[in-house]
Amino acid sequence: MIYRIPNEYRSVLLSSLPLKGSLIIFGASVIGIIIHELLVRAGREVLCFCDNDRSKHGSELLGKRIISVNELKEKHEGHSIIIAARAYANIFWQLKTLHIEQVYNGAFLLDQADLSGIQIPMEHSNIQKPLNGYIHAIYSVHSKNNCMINALEIVVTQKCTLKCRDCSNLMQYYSKPKHCNMDVMIKSLDCIMGNIDKVMEFRLSGGEPFLNKELPFIINTLSLYKNYDFISIFTNGTLFPDHLLWDSLTNHNVILHITDYGNGLSKKSAEVAAYCAKHGIPFSVVSCETWRDYNGFEFHNRSKEELADTFKTCCVSDVFTLLNGKLYRCPFSANADALHAIPKFKDDFLKVSHMRDRKKSVREIFFDFINHKDYINACNYCFPRGVDRPAIQAAMQVNDHLQYVHRR
Ligand code: SF4
Ligand code: SF4
Repeated sequence: MIYRIPNEYRSVLLSSLPLKGSLIIFGASVIGIIIHELLVRAGREVLCFCDNDRSKHGSELLGKRIISVNELKEKHEGHSIIIAARAYANIFWQLKTLHIEQVYNGAFLLDQADLSGIQIPMEHSNIQKPLNGYIHAIYSVHSKNNCMINALEIVVTQKCTLKCRDCSNLMQYYSKPKHCNMDVMIKSLDCIMGNIDKVMEFRLSGGEPFLNKELPFIINTLSLYKNYDFISIFTNGTLFPDHLLWDSLTNHNVILHITDYGNGLSKKSAEVAAYCAKHGIPFSVVSCETWRDYNGFEFHNRSKEELADTFKTCCVSDVFTLLNGKLYRCPFSANADALHAIPKFKDDFLKVSHMRDRKKSVREIFFDFINHKDYINACNYCFPRGVDRPAIQAAMQVNDHLQYVHRR
């Protein structure tokens, strides 16, 4: 398979880069593996990998050690660092904050690259989407005029078939969970898609999206927009879709992400995966035994500088989230606001179902919200995602919704 960078990114991304010394690849996952192989083919020496995932530290990938950011800080002098992860923006700002220079990306290696023969832990036919997401993330950081969203999460329901005590989307706190209001959602999407350049990935999430019987209609509606790349759906593997839903999953540009929680919870995951494989629907299955503990809404009293650091290092600060006609910067901000678990911060969201501003155009408002946020106030009540937190057992079940302090 030959990978080509999408045309709209070419002018910004394809300048050549003066890589110095031996190289450290930041990102010990699929994209890191591909960049490693392309560097080796180009005769470059790769010293090691670096990753923010603590569970990988000290182990090896392709015979190279995986180090932590702290070790990188000590070792980076004289080496070039290539960020090779979809969380490009976060890692880029993380390294800037640490005053680590000589940081590059792998776009120039990837364009026109022949990826066949590279051993990766996923189907080759599915690699285009994460690579396009990576390229988009690089473009968002280095282009000055773009008005694009990498991932737009749409909360199609707050209802779930499981009751996970530590759900990072905060579903365990909803006492009366609801499906999304279709009219408000479509009006909001029309406003977003009509005023920005592009969404790379729609993420349909919940709760459990398969519980919403309108899901086929939502997928069909999204597929009518011309300025998006693909639709991801996240399911917990407890339900097998009906014919109507399978039809819309088959006919549109959808990838299904199945999480298998084991312990007899995700009872349908193998059946759903087998159906996808048989009918050519792109899918992934992730077995999940541990999570990080991001629980709670306590106030952290962070300074503006600390909030900016928190926001930049958090790996979901560009997972824009649409909930109840409002566009937020991340799923925590959206659900904590909907639950009234944090104070109302009007700057943290755009009310896209009612967009009006006399001084600025709607596009300018989106542009600022997408590109010019140093932090959001919700970060003061939250642990940044992707950063070291204690490991906890995944999907511990509770019998009822959890209590919390209402802040308004
Ligand atoms: S399966 Fe668990 S983690 Fe996933 S949305 Fe439902 S409650 Fe949250
Ligand atoms: S509110 Fe939390 S999850 Fe959202 S960007 Fe800030 S630190 Fe990350």
